[in-house]
Amino acid sequence: MENLSQILKSNKIMLKSHVSRYALYGLVIALTALLTATLLASYFQYGAVSLVNIINVQKINQALWFLDVMPFIFVFWGQYASSRMAFKASVMILEQTSSLRDQTIALEYRVAHEATHDAITGLPNRILLMDRVEQAIKSALNPKTRLAVIIIAIDNFKEINETLGHHSGDLLLKQAVSRLQIIVRKSDTLASIGNNEIAILLPVIKDIENVINIMKKIEKLFLDSFSINRLFIEIQVSIGTAIYPDHGKDMDSILQRANLALYSAKSDNRKFKIYSSDMEKNSPRQLTLTGELRQAIANDQLLLQFQPKIDAHSKRVTGAEALVSWHHPVHGMLLPDEFIPMAEQTGLIQPLSIWVLNNALRTARNWYRESLGLSIAINISPTTFLDLELPDLIIDLLSQYEIPSDFIILEITEGSMIKNPDLALEILNRLSDRGIKISIDDFGTGYSSLSYLKQLPASEIKIDKSFVQDMLTDENDAVIVKAIIDLGHNLGLNVVAEGVENSETSSRLKSLGCDVLQGYYFSKPVKSDRFLKWLSLNSDY
Ligand code: C2E
Ligand code: CA
Ligand code: CA
Repeated sequence: MENLSQILKSNKIMLKSHVSRYALYGLVIALTALLTATLLASYFQYGAVSLVNIINVQKINQALWFLDVMPFIFVFWGQYASSRMAFKASVMILEQTSSLRDQTIALEYRVAHEATHDAITGLPNRILLMDRVEQAIKSALNPKTRLAVIIIAIDNFKEINETLGHHSGDLLLKQAVSRLQIIVRKSDTLASIGNNEIAILLPVIKDIENVINIMKKIEKLFLDSFSINRLFIEIQVSIGTAIYPDHGKDMDSILQRANLALYSAKSDNRKFKIYSSDMEKNSPRQLTLTGELRQAIANDQLLLQFQPKIDAHSKRVTGAEALVSWHHPVHGMLLPDEFIPMAEQTGLIQPLSIWVLNNALRTARNWYRESLGLSIAINISPTTFLDLELPDLIIDLLSQYEIPSDFIILEITEGSMIKNPDLALEILNRLSDRGIKISIDDFGTGYSSLSYLKQLPASEIKIDKSFVQDMLTDENDAVIVKAIIDLGHNLGLNVVAEGVENSETSSRLKSLGCDVLQGYYFSKPVKSDRFLKWLSLNSDY
């Protein structure tokens, strides 16, 4: 500020000196005019120019009197005008400078705000959260002070964005933030740290119970559906928490462990989890696997294997289920349960599903050309299934590979329909309108209502292997298996039992009227060439 007034002062002096210079020019002109006029008047009046004549002419010529005052007028005007101009100019400069300074401050504030806040929700972003966590750890001087970082992820956010558009996704996020604002205190930091993740920093917590209660409150906040553009949307959240100093001594480890707890809650289908060291076992591997999966898809490290489905009555092989696995160069053969949930969360499920579809259809074409009369069942993950582009994609692939649509069956889990029953029904109808058969996988685990099941254009249900495997020893499971078979038949559906591991189970299922059997008893999933060899030996199982 002092600097500024100094600049203004020197500006004023400079401006004043400029204006004074012009006043001086005026004075010189006025004096020259006065001198010339006096000399001329003396010459014309007395015939010669002399000092006496000049004094005389000055005494009697009134026009010269007028010229005599001119230099004074110029000097006075020059001083007056210069002072006024300098004053006005300095005020102008002062005003412009101060508005410029205000604009700079506003701009600096905006840049700083944008760098540390999320554009959609206006909440602090990950950078500011990291800073606040660091500050909170530094100010936790008392060794008993504990703080917690809670991370909340909207699990079906990607689907909402894809089906309803990004604008609706943004609205949903804002509404989710408004609900969370109800439970956060002034001293807490609510931050938006990724496209579907919100974090809360609790700078002081009493005990773990305290944090568990908050997580329960958060869970409750999301039970009621959200109203977005007059649509009611259910959202699922997963919550992960890490506590300082119990789970880490610095900001990085606290945030990383809150993330691990979140990841673990997601993969176990649990609403919330607090970090524990056993979550550490898989995590570094999971993290590197995520990076490697993309390469694996591109480099054909994935492997599609086929497991036969056998008609329980005729004992003929009716088709096969395609199951993907990953031949990892270091870890060996990885099963889908290890990488499919991860692919779902990282968006890699789309290229993976396309890889599976292409490979399954290529095999289906070979079998079709050899007139084996075998259909191929393809598993469709929940995210891939709830994509409105799926029916067109499959139709395009079927025509590309020149296979009739009834040579494939899409296996869709009951659980993936519950997420969004209306959308699921629409997609299933589109698929079945085009002659593609649908199988409801893991049946019995998803709690669909009977009225919903009745509407589904499915041709098959697969009893989940958890019921089949123990049906000989567990009477409850046996009752469930029988009930599912009867229910399926009442709905006009083919009933498949998976996980058949021995001949007793196979016979029991046959006696209960199950239509198709699948399991290790017949064959494990194998590569297509081995499958064909097996088929030639067991065509009539
Ligand atoms: P699923 O669709 O229920 O597949 C059946 C699983 O049970 C397969 O495990 C199969 O190998 C296994 N299985 C078959 N018979 C028996 C048996 O007699 N006993 C036992 N204990 N298990 C048996 P897998 O290959 O590990 O696949 C696990 C899950 O991964 C599948 O469950 C499916 O949900 C998913 N998955 C597999 N391949 C794909 C795929 O290409 N795309 C998608 N989206 N998911 C897939
Ligand atoms: Ca399946
Ligand atoms: Ca299954």
